[in-house]
Amino acid sequence: MTTAELRAADREVLWHPFTQQQGWQAEDAPIIERGEGCTLYDTDGNAYLDGVSSLWCTVHGHRHPAIDAAVRAQLDRVAHTTMLGLSHPPAIELARRLLAVAPRGDRELTRVFYSDNGSTANEIALKMAFQWHKLRGDEARTRFVYLDMSYHGDTVGSVSVGGIDLFHTLFRPLLFDGLRAAAGDAADLERILRAHGDEVAAVIVEPLVQGAAGILLQPEGYLRAVRELCDRFGVLMIVDEVATGFGRTGTMFACEHEGVVPDLMSVAKGLTGGYLPLAATLATERVYEGFLGEFHEFRTFFHGHTYTGNPLACAAAIASLDVFEDEGTLAALAPKIDLLAELLAEHVAPLASVAAIRRLGFMAGIELTEFALQDRMGHRVTLAARRRGAIVRPLGDVVVLMPPLSMSPRELTRLVTITAAAIAEAT
Ligand code: PLP
Repeated sequence: MTTAELRAADREVLWHPFTQQQGWQAEDAPIIERGEGCTLYDTDGNAYLDGVSSLWCTVHGHRHPAIDAAVRAQLDRVAHTTMLGLSHPPAIELARRLLAVAPRGDRELTRVFYSDNGSTANEIALKMAFQWHKLRGDEARTRFVYLDMSYHGDTVGSVSVGGIDLFHTLFRPLLFDGLRAAAGDAADLERILRAHGDEVAAVIVEPLVQGAAGILLQPEGYLRAVRELCDRFGVLMIVDEVATGFGRTGTMFACEHEGVVPDLMSVAKGLTGGYLPLAATLATERVYEGFLGEFHEFRTFFHGHTYTGNPLACAAAIASLDVFEDEGTLAALAPKIDLLAELLAEHVAPLASVAAIRRLGFMAGIELTEFALQDRMGHRVTLAARRRGAIVRPLGDVVVLMPPLSMSPRELTRLVTITAAAIAEAT
């Protein structure tokens, strides 16, 4: 099919996520056919720097030879087999590897429960926390504390702990009733736990940086304070590392910046290097043991998806962890994080229409000065960047840069200068 035919067919049969389809009908969005390293190519042969790691998930670039080979090798064995009543080598090996790189400190994550996307990894953590208290006879702990402007996914459970009103308010009648704490404010969390501590099963947080909120940074020490408060009030701590995990903030997991180990930790996105859908909820032995008992006691965690722990995805994830080791990904990232900060300060910060730049590691949000909602300024910047050969994606009027960790200094420079030129042109 030609590009024009593909576009026509897309408009006829597809319904895109987080997209006002009426606007999409008029947009000539690139149709991506191929990727190589940090570059995506469309059906007309145009090349674009992937400035947002597909959707914040590509780690070592597209078509990494080691990950490609691992998926192909697994394809020659079996593409899918269930984790319900059976097991398979990639799931076992990946669990061991994940636990070996998981944050460590005053407690340890020792168990891996697979699923296939970030929302379900969080959904599972919420259900585990709820059931864990119930199994201990603590029937009253049925509520969850979440942060203002939090985002934990789009399923009904994860939306229940979502604090972005634009996405979440509409669905309130469908949702369970959580307790919303001011983001980054430990005193507010303490106030809520003092008032409701006995009803709370868990606190769920994005560690250090709330991505979908527009890369909002929490003050230093906040995550540690959440940990201490959870322990003081007998509440489990769920850390959502879906966006921040696998090197995104400069360490393997963002929790490590504050020496915090949660009771439950969700990972997805970068887990497979951004190749295939896979997620995991990691738990401490204390949480896991709460579910043990005789069959007839029904302490079982009754949850499991068809594609949970898919072998191809597990093989990709193992290969991605290998690449972290073989290529020294995190060590190579450190100077590139400094470069990104310098480039943003030099090219983007001086622009009149830039109100703020928020960044942690390879997550950056460029907040534009106030424009009318209908101007869709963030979106216009995206279109201008695309014409110059880079894919970026806004969150409202915050232009997000989330490059693959493998992006070279030269590519990074190009990405930031294109972004700056696009902001200057569009605003
Ligand atoms: N949690 C966080 C912090 C996220 O940023 C996202 C996705 O952007 C999710 C959960 C949801 O993950 P998924 O889109 O894989 O369901």
